[in-house]
Amino acid sequence: IGSKLPHVGTTIFTVMSRMASEEGAINLSQGFPGFGADPVLLELVGKYTRDGYNQYPPMSGIPQLRRRLAEKTELTQIYFPDPETEVTIVSGATEALFSAVTAVVRPGDEVVLLEPAYDSYEPAVTLNGGVPVYVPLNAEDFSVDWERVEKALSPKTRLIMVNSPHNPSGYVWTEEDIDSLATLVRDRDIYLVSDEVYEHITFDGRKHISLGSHPELRNKTFVCGSFGKTFHVTGWKIGYCIAPSDMTVEFRKIHQFLTFTTVTPIQYALAEYLEEPNRYLSIPAFYQSKRDLFAGGLTRTGLIFTPARGSFFQLASYGHLSQIGDRELAERMTRRLKVACIPVSVFYSDRRDDKFIRFCFAKEEAELFEALERLQGLP
Ligand code: PMP
Ligand code: GLN
Repeated sequence: IGSKLPHVGTTIFTVMSRMASEEGAINLSQGFPGFGADPVLLELVGKYTRDGYNQYPPMSGIPQLRRRLAEKTELTQIYFPDPETEVTIVSGATEALFSAVTAVVRPGDEVVLLEPAYDSYEPAVTLNGGVPVYVPLNAEDFSVDWERVEKALSPKTRLIMVNSPHNPSGYVWTEEDIDSLATLVRDRDIYLVSDEVYEHITFDGRKHISLGSHPELRNKTFVCGSFGKTFHVTGWKIGYCIAPSDMTVEFRKIHQFLTFTTVTPIQYALAEYLEEPNRYLSIPAFYQSKRDLFAGGLTRTGLIFTPARGSFFQLASYGHLSQIGDRELAERMTRRLKVACIPVSVFYSDRRDDKFIRFCFAKEEAELFEALERLQGLP
């Protein structure tokens, strides 16, 4: 039929997960938790399903969940989005990102993407006729090179997509990063899509700062989040978008015809579950021990890395050990060492291979220990 995305194949996450399963390897490739959700949350979904909450909910999400999300935002990010006009519940952050991009990008508009970038951004831009303009993150720590971003701007720039905590590097934006962005877009007619799916996964006392918490940026930003990431239920595909009311009006028009609504009993369950803030406030500590365990063990493998500052991914470089391509290394590691990872070149538009691989450490301790043991066999 003639492809609208000729350069796109099956995502690397699917490819590596399939290979891991064929090889009986420990799967530290695709990002998903290897442990179950809180039984309380599971029971709530069962309860609301049995109680008959199974028909279409309101298009923008049930009011109770929008309110709880606004309260969570007030508690963690010190601003209270209007649950009626600024909060929308959607089918995963992927939908939030796609709807936000679709709401603002018109043919010929330029969209700045910071690389390495999560794989769903570029197709969302190009399917809307937008032109991606790539800016590499700093090689040392994956922070943003603001001068390069400024140079990439043109009168056609319509949108900048940002992601913190960052997949795949784990970099977490600082207040200075946010101020630099605010300075850059001040007096410019540029929107922002902020992918904050790892908002609750930050380490060593760092705090995630939402673009929504910034009084100027708030007026230009679609904040996109995912309950799947926060509550260890990635298969539920439920997320949200917080944006100013005029932007939310347009966002909802897209959402209305993309999925219309999102799974009803899970919305009720999450609304009740969110009544207890400790259920999300405890997440950094929960993941910190996994990050510590994994990073601690990784020092004995010969790989070079900086412990992740956020997200549930650990990046590591192997160029000093071997010069084989990262895709080949990932495949070899899966087939020979029986540990699957993600080659980071896939996060670059030009497939630049800087000899980095990404591990997901959202796994049970025993599985992490076993994977680290097997990684001792690295070249
Ligand atoms: N953005 C990033 C950076 C991610 O890692 C993911 C997880 N796959 C998503 C968006 C998508 O989230 P969801 O599963 O809620 O669609
Ligand atoms: N976000 C997950 C990752 O980066 C994967 C989600 C997917 O498979 N699309 O691994």
